Amino acid sequence: MSTFLVEVVTPERKVYAENANMISVKGVEGELGILPNHIPLVTQLRIAPVVIKRDGKVDVIAVNGGFIEVRKDKIVILAESAELATDIDLDRAKAAKARAEQLLSAKRDEIDFRRAELALQRAMNRIGTAQK
Ligand code: ATP
Repeated sequence: MSTFLVEVVTPERKVYAENANMISVKGVEGELGILPNHIPLVTQLRIAPVVIKRDGKVDVIAVNGGFIEVRKDKIVILAESAELATDIDLDRAKAAKARAEQLLSAKRDEIDFRRAELALQRAMNRIGTAQK
């Protein structure tokens, strides 16, 4: 079966680099399932799990926004932060969720509200990914 290289990179580190058979992501314009030899594209990603199939295994990564670039030779995901399901600290994500919910329930200005909303999305993405 043909494969492509999938890399997930954040400003801090390379989170993932494996040869895969398929990847599915949630783009801002909808879900995308990508197989080898897909046409090149760049699109923005939602805060959502990315699922990668390879060699009969499935890897799930919590990707917290960013972009996917589909190239001829490989796929690169650039994200502000990303964690493999197995690396997620569930207690930390639950604490972040509770903090964000508390901030959202307080009356705050718009910027703080948006920040708390994004923090909540990241925490829920981590919790959902860790439990997949
Ligand atoms: P927190 O409030 O817990 O720091 P956050 O959403 O503000 O959460 P980020 O700014 O997105 O965190 O990430 C900071 C760093 O911490 C990144 O390297 C990210 O991968 C890592 N990280 C954040 N939350 C978790 C978690 N629950 N498990 C593992 N790594 C995490």
